[in-house]
Amino acid sequence: MILAMKQERSYEWGEGVFTLLSWFKKDKVKNARVLVAGGGALGNEVVKDLALFGVGHIYVVDFDQIELSNLTRSVLFREEDAYNHSYKAEIVAKRAMEINPQIKVTPIVGNLFSEVGFGIYRAVDVVIGCLDSRIARYLLNRLCMRAGKSWIDGSIENLTGAVKVYTPGINCYECGLSREEFNIIMLRTGCADVVRAQTSAGRVATTPISASIIGAMQVQEAMKIIHIDDGENAQFKTLQGKMLRYEGMTNSMNIYRYSSWKKNCPAHERWDQIIEAKDLSASMVLEDVMAYLKSFLNAQALEINMRNNKFIDKIVSDKPEKEYEVMIPESKLDDYINSDTELRKLSYRTLFHKSFYEVIDDDFPYKHLTLQQIGIPKFDVLEVVTDKGLYHVELTGDSELYL
Ligand SMILES: [Zn+2]
Repeated sequence: MILAMKQERSYEWGEGVFTLLSWFKKDKVKNARVLVAGGGALGNEVVKDLALFGVGHIYVVDFDQIELSNLTRSVLFREEDAYNHSYKAEIVAKRAMEINPQIKVTPIVGNLFSEVGFGIYRAVDVVIGCLDSRIARYLLNRLCMRAGKSWIDGSIENLTGAVKVYTPGINCYECGLSREEFNIIMLRTGCADVVRAQTSAGRVATTPISASIIGAMQVQEAMKIIHIDDGENAQFKTLQGKMLRYEGMTNSMNIYRYSSWKKNCPAHERWDQIIEAKDLSASMVLEDVMAYLKSFLNAQALEINMRNNKFIDKIVSDKPEKEYEVMIPESKLDDYINSDTELRKLSYRTLFHKSFYEVIDDDFPYKHLTLQQIGIPKFDVLEVVTDKGLYHVELTGDSELYL
């Protein structure tokens, strides 16, 4: 029957509804790109609201699988997702596109720092942090500052929550850390050559209410940032350089000044002169990439700096003294050890020392591997040092996968 046929799409999302909002610019929202870091309770709320607004392209990054305990505060997850061990990022993307079929949501199952190409950070209008650890915030802040993008940090605990907006030149997460907090982060991230058993983040008691209030405030800030640069919307009061704190127990909401921008903070290093190399892709082998870069940059010798990751060719246990060939990026090492029966047993009793490469040059022995195999994600930006100087080169050949 004709009635059963799927209706042709003849409407445009938000037409006649959002157009009543004086500040709302349909094309700006449709063309906007937003990166959502984390697909948990906050990430669910944030992506849901971005989808309802019709934000054209959303990237959602998370490496976790869905568990039954997530269901109490994650509007996009279903019981079957937990039984299927589905990835949070993939389900968030799928369900958000069911809510609004006119947008694109790209899931990235992986680590925010080593598995998301820097090209994506460059391409988005704003980043929304839905994270649950200081280390993750510290690293996300570095990437956003490097790309010159604002990021909106949300946190929830029990009936309370907070939203902070970090904007290059105004405030920076790293500058706001106390000496003690900074030392804790350094202890966890700074051990370059020793593998430690990963301590999982403790579960924080949260409610679906605080997740939806804080997630909604984050999206409201994102909408302001998407609109603000045309000057007409100067009436917006944003939380740039401020913190909003919500206290559910007493129904109070307060705004505090929250800006810290110190001289000589290493996080403020901005990459703004990026060369877009349309012929380069992370699926090329190193031999070809290096030959291309030498001719492209007119250089005799060069080094590729492994900024966010290291390439580990082997690990050595001290008791018993034994070598294991691994050939993986550092970001995959914990999973590798956990999935190997012998290594997993050993990891409780012994320390592994890593043999790794932080810099790839002509002497690198594994030039038959691809950039991706050594830990450089698609659409990333390479930091290349040559006899002529330092260059940042984007793997623009991968851009069509993400733009
Ligand atoms: Zn700083």
